[in-house]
This record gives sequence, structure tokens and C-alpha cells, in this order.
Amino acid sequence: MRKLLKYLKNYRFDTIIGPTLKLLEAIFELIVPLVMAKIIDVGIKNGDMAYVLKMGGVIVLLGVCGLAAALVCQYVAARAAFGFGTELRSALFRHINSFSHAEIDKFGTSSLITRLTNDVTAAQNGVNMAIRLASRAPFLIIGSAVMAMSMDMKLSLIFFAAAPLVSFVLYMIMSRSIPFYGKIQKKLDRISLLTRENLVGARVIRAFSRQGEECEEFDEACDSHTAAAVKVGKISALLNPLTSVIMNLAIVAIIWFGGYRVYDGALTQGEVIAFVNYMTQISLALVVVANLVIIFTKASASAARINEIFAAEPSVKETAKEPAAVLCSAPAVELRDVVFSYGGGEPALNGISFRIMHGETFGIIGGTGSGKSTLVNLIPRFYDVSSGEVLVDGVDVRDFPFSQLREKIGIVPQRAQLFKGTLLENMRWRKKDADIADIDRAIRISQSAEFVSKLENGYETMILQNGKNLSGGQKQRLTIARALVGSPEIVILDDSSSALDYSTDYKLRKALSEELSGTTVIIISQRAAAVKNADKILVLDDGKAVGLGTHAELLEACPVYKEICLSQLSAEEIEKGGQ
Ligand code: ADP
Ligand code: MG
Repeated sequence: MRKLLKYLKNYRFDTIIGPTLKLLEAIFELIVPLVMAKIIDVGIKNGDMAYVLKMGGVIVLLGVCGLAAALVCQYVAARAAFGFGTELRSALFRHINSFSHAEIDKFGTSSLITRLTNDVTAAQNGVNMAIRLASRAPFLIIGSAVMAMSMDMKLSLIFFAAAPLVSFVLYMIMSRSIPFYGKIQKKLDRISLLTRENLVGARVIRAFSRQGEECEEFDEACDSHTAAAVKVGKISALLNPLTSVIMNLAIVAIIWFGGYRVYDGALTQGEVIAFVNYMTQISLALVVVANLVIIFTKASASAARINEIFAAEPSVKETAKEPAAVLCSAPAVELRDVVFSYGGGEPALNGISFRIMHGETFGIIGGTGSGKSTLVNLIPRFYDVSSGEVLVDGVDVRDFPFSQLREKIGIVPQRAQLFKGTLLENMRWRKKDADIADIDRAIRISQSAEFVSKLENGYETMILQNGKNLSGGQKQRLTIARALVGSPEIVILDDSSSALDYSTDYKLRKALSEELSGTTVIIISQRAAAVKNADKILVLDDGKAVGLGTHAELLEACPVYKEICLSQLSAEEIEKGGQ
């Protein structure tokens, strides 16, 4: 938690004034029993009604002043805590955005969301309570004990017998419940993971009639969360009754022995009442302390989870600050003996080398899981290679600033994803100020023109979250258009025609080859028809390159490629090599 306190620095005033006001309130509260004692010992004893009323007025005044102090404290505490939460959340969000794909894989999207929301709220609560109660409760406990001691040393021995007992109970309960809070948070992660998967995959789940299994799994996760929460609840529930038994016994003892002390003349009746008052205050304050410990435990469990994110350094670092000087004569993309593995496991790519010259069309083909997407993700540096080199325009991708590298590349990811906003806004992702002619061209090449022209609001059509109001094929074509806006030097299409029918796919490839003649195009596909006209084709199998060459060369030399072609194309199509 301490590491996070720097997000409070703009609220230094609030964090000082809040506890000060609370202390003031506590002092008022400590004075009240003294005034009470005076009312009993002087006013009631002598039947002096005017004195009783006067002192009663003092108590009311103390109460009002205390209330005012508490209100102001509440206000500044809320202001500081929410300010802290906001700053922490935005710093966390910024840090998560600096992550490469590897760190996002590592934490998992759902856990990142829980940490951004639930955990930040717990930390924020911790700050709020610290300002409001952390100074007041201990002060009240110590203050009450001191006041009691100043009245009668002997009777206050009861305090010293009760306090260690209560502390012991507090310690036992806390030490048992604290380890659970981290666990509960983890279980919450799992619930949000399941919720997310379920909502994102709702259609698939229904198609496979797996709602039953999904519900069961969700119930299990909820049950296990509940079980942990109930267990902590049971332990914590002992806290209040146990402390209040001890405290009430102490009060009985005070009245019992207090009677004797009054009899001896060492104490007045009013002072006994004041004693009981102080004891009650201590017991209330102790309960507050116990709740504070719980809140702080939760806050520190959450703070640890938040710090885990801050501690994770993006594995893909932008080291180059100056734009790199590119070599026009070098290949547009070159891989030299690239090995890559996710999180240090089995290599997903092994010993890949190839060159793509400027303006060439390069096809990559291979079964699912053969490493095609992994390979192209290395070019815009979504991941860094484990060994070997990836060069763009003759420069290692690690020597480019991100913006320079990614400006060169228009990538169409395998999963078509659009964002909430108008169609035009979605088209301007690569280039903020792209003019309409540029967008028109991209829409035309991507074969989207026909359905876009039918949209009632044209470019101003609202696209819902994830592009829900578009068909798979429409979404896919728009993601292609998005990548083409601003004329990138390298266009990467990762299985981007999977949702298109054959004739649209054909038209798309034709448009790409005609209109992007100067552009380097990398086409990934599982369809032989989509890559066979490429200048060069790479055949991947289980992370290894098993063939590299033109369609005709590969038919001769690469059995895997031949097999793919034979299973997908007619003899005539294979021979012709044409569209
Ligand atoms: P393709 O695009 O050819 O279908 P991928 O490149 O997506 O294949 O995957 C290649 C291999 O890497 C697969 O075995 C897959 O399980 C693994 N893989 C892909 N993405 C990740 C990831 N984010 N974390 C761990 N393993 C991954
Ligand atoms: Mg893929």
C-alpha cells in the first residue's frame, strides 16, 4: 500500500486536515463524560437545576462542534480518497496500455479488469477509512484510558486487565481471516473471467447448447467464492460478540468495585458514570479498530495485486527514441533465423528465415496452430523474438520507435474487431486526418463499397461495440479498409477473407494486386487459392518453414503444399496457377 501513496500527493492538505478534525471530535467526546460527572456530582447532588441546564448546554455544544468537525472530515476524506482512486486508476490504465501482448496474456484480460475496478476501489476505501478513523480510534482508546487513570488509578486497573484480553481476541481473529482476503480476490477474478467468456461467446455457447455446463461452471465459481467469503465472515463475526462480552464484564466490574470506591470516598458517583462512559467509548473504538484492520487488510491485498501490475515491465520496450534511417535497397521485411516461444515454452516458431522485397506479394499458408499469426505479430513488434532478427527496410524492428514502425504497417488481425463509434471514426484509426478520397479508395479495394453505399447514414453510421450490427464478412472487409487508409508500405492480412464468399474473396485479391502494386502485401490464408498467385509462398508446419517459393516450385518440391492444393483445388486450377 505504501507504494501507492504517491497518488495521494495532490491531496496532502486533505490528508492532514481530515485526521486533525477527527482528533478534535475525539477530544470533545472525551470531555463529555467529565461534564456528565459534574452534572451528577454538583448539579443533581445540590438540586441546582440552572447548573444542570448550563452543563447540559455545554454537552449539546460539544456535540454540535463534534458533528461539524466530523462532517468536514468526511468531506475531505471522500475528496482525497476518490481523487486518489481516480489518479491510481488512470496511472494503472496507462501502465496496462504500455504492456505488450505478452504481459496481457500473462495476467489475462479479466484479471486486469478486476484489478482496475474492484482492487482500486478497495485501496480507495482503505484511504478513505484511514483519514476518517485511523487517528481517531486509537486516540479515543488511549485518551479514555488516560482520563480514567487520572480520575482513579486503582479502578483503572480493570482497563488494563480488559485491554490485553481484547487485543488477544483481535489478534486471533485477524491472523485467521487475513490470508483469506487475497484468496477471495482471486476467486472474484475467476468469476469475472467466466462472465466475460460467457458473454463474449454467448452465440457459440448457444449454438453448441452448452448453457447448462456454462451455468454449472459459473455456479461452482460463485459457490467457491461464497464459501471463502462465508468462512471469513464466520471468523470475523466472532469479533463483535467476543469484544463486547469482555467489555461488558469490565463495565460490571467497574460498577461493582466503583461502588466500594465511592463508599470509601475515593470517587464520586458522577465519576463512576464517567468511568463507565470511557469504557463504552473504548469498546466502541476497539470495534472500529477491528473493522479498520479488515478494511486495511483488504486494501493491502488489493494494493499488492495492483503493485504486481506496476511491477510488470513491458517486455517489448521502445528503446529507440529517434526515427531510424531506413535503407531503400533493403528488403521490405526480412526474418533471420527467428525463434519465438510464448512465455518460454515450446517454440511456436523455429528457425524461420525469408525476405520479402518491396512491392512483392507474399503468401503464408499452413494448418491452424502452425504459427502463421505468431509470425506476422513479430513484424509490428507485438512480441519480441526469442532469438534471431526481424528487419523492416533493413533495420531491426527493435531499433524503430513504435510509431515509425507501426505507421509503415497496416495489419488486419485474424479476429475482425471494430470499435464503438461512427464508420468514419473507425476508418481513421491509422490516420486521424485521412481525407474522404483516401477512405473511399480503401472502402473500394476492400470490397465494402456496395454495402456501405446501402447504409442509410453512410459513413456516419454508428457501429456498435465490437461491430455487433454488422455481419462477419462486412466486419472483416471494414477491418481491411481500416488497415489500407493512409497507404501503409506493408499490408498484412491475417486470414482476412475467412468470412468472405469465394467471389468476394477473388474480387478482393484482384483489387489488392491491381491497386496496391507498389505495396508489400503479406497474405495469410488456409486457402491455397488465396496465396497461389503470390510472388513467394511460405509453407509453415508446426512452427517450421517446410517450403518457400512460387506456386509452381512448391508443387514440385514441397509435399505439404502439394497436399493442401490437391485437397482444395481442382486439377485445372492447380495447373493454371491463374485466379
Ligand atoms: P495460426 O495462426 O497458424 O493458426 P498461431 O500463430 O495462432 O497459429 O499459433 C501458433 C501456436 O502458438 C499454437 O500452438 C498456439 O497454441 C500458440 N499460441 C498462439 N497464441 C498464443 C498465446 N497468446 N499464448 C500462448 N500460446 C499461443
Ligand atoms: Mg492465426
